[in-house]
Amino acid sequence: MGPILYGLMKLQSVENRLRAAKAKLSRSRRNVIIQENQVRSLQNALEAKKEELQLTKVQSSRLELELKVRDEEVSKLRAALNTAKSNKEYAAVLTQLNTTRADNSKLESQILELMKAVETDEAECETIRKQIEAQKQQLEQTRKATDASAVEHEAEIAKIQAEWNEAARTIPAEPLKVFKRVAETYDGEAVAAIEEQEGRNAAYSCGGCFMGITAESVNLLMTRDEIIRCPNCTRILVLTNSQMQV
Ligand SMILES: [Zn+2]
Repeated sequence: MGPILYGLMKLQSVENRLRAAKAKLSRSRRNVIIQENQVRSLQNALEAKKEELQLTKVQSSRLELELKVRDEEVSKLRAALNTAKSNKEYAAVLTQLNTTRADNSKLESQILELMKAVETDEAECETIRKQIEAQKQQLEQTRKATDASAVEHEAEIAKIQAEWNEAARTIPAEPLKVFKRVAETYDGEAVAAIEEQEGRNAAYSCGGCFMGITAESVNLLMTRDEIIRCPNCTRILVLTNSQMQV
């Protein structure tokens, strides 16, 4: 291994720190998004509840109107009772009167149920409104804290990015291209150290995917400063300090 591979190892360590700093920034932004979603879902729940409330009110006024008509019917039947000309007529009107009254009392209890539902729905709307208010306040605090910490995170990222650029400057174009491509594939993990399998002499594996690596590849790494990639995962292979001292 020579300057190119050492340069790539150094670049890898900076890349790791850069990715970690970027992840921190996006984690803190994600908190804001999560809370925004919570506010939105509460607002949707409120809209749904208000719609339900509206429907119940419409149904309730329809029944009230019907009850009014039927109450007039009862008054008419009562008058008819007084002017009945025969027992038979009297009995017929009385039956009709009683039936209408029974129906009305059913209607009344239905209306009462609906009014109770309206009260419950209105209370629930109020509860959701309060929840929205509380959630919005919390969101505002989170947003402020996130904005403040984002400034710090961004400064940190810029600092590490400068280090990254500096480290990348020492690496020739072709190996750098390979590094970037593999880093894209493995979430930043482009370089893998070769691992020696315990208890077995000269048995090596890729530290990225744990597939076997030939002793020939290890020898090449010891003697040359060239990129050798894992035949399985394509990561750039490097030796560890102890392997180089052999
Ligand atoms: Zn591998």
